[in-house]
Amino acid sequence: MQQRVQARPVASNEPPEAAAPARAVDVKAGLVGKPFAQQEAALALNSTVDPSKITKNINPSAKEVAHGGSGYGYCVPFVKVHPFETEKVGGKVQPNAHVDVSFQVGLKVPEGKVDVASAQSTGLNPKNYAQAVSDLTPDGAGYAPRTRFYSQALTRRHEYFHVSDYVSAGEGIVQRAIDALGKKDIAPEAMYGELKALQEQIRGDLIEYYAGAGRRTASECREDADVSAYTARPGEARAFGDGRPEYQALADGITARFAGGR
Ligand SMILES: [Zn+2]
Repeated sequence: MQQRVQARPVASNEPPEAAAPARAVDVKAGLVGKPFAQQEAALALNSTVDPSKITKNINPSAKEVAHGGSGYGYCVPFVKVHPFETEKVGGKVQPNAHVDVSFQVGLKVPEGKVDVASAQSTGLNPKNYAQAVSDLTPDGAGYAPRTRFYSQALTRRHEYFHVSDYVSAGEGIVQRAIDALGKKDIAPEAMYGELKALQEQIRGDLIEYYAGAGRRTASECREDADVSAYTARPGEARAFGDGRPEYQALADGITARFAGGR
């Protein structure tokens, strides 16, 4: 359940645009849909951000993909700030923007491992069930060793827990970052950079919520020394804690099936 976080640049796919003439224009009529850098070039005004003009959406429906990396699965948050128009408010430039937060869940079939869909799985038998019980019994943190047997369903549950966890905290995280931007007085030529910084701020805040204080980049949270350091990440502690009763129930069900528990 390796956590991988990837950067997406602000509007990097927009083609370069020629500078617009530096004169007063009807902002809404003339610049809607143009890149922010062009809009600000046309408007030599100081800027402030009204936080209410920056909308946000946190999409709780993760995109699920197969992956070939290490581990069992991952959940990655993506943050993108879309500057889409400006308007003139009280002699200043007011950017309108939209913040999108979305998630990708990656799941793989780990090589050489046997999926135990339930305690009644046909892959279990009197000779291998003890190994399955051992593999699927969670430790105090909720981490099951899964040396040979694992559960795809519980892996999926774990990764989608991360999504829900991010979503529940994300509303506040995103809004606080937007509100902080609203307290600044920003030169027009700096506005594009400020919106890019907003994107990085939100991504860093989300990663820190997952990985712990001061860990704001993928590299800071990717390589933990051992399993206990990994499961100690706040986000992993929450996710493994969520799955712990499920793993225990699965292990108990296998024991009951083969060890005369019923
Ligand atoms: Zn996880």
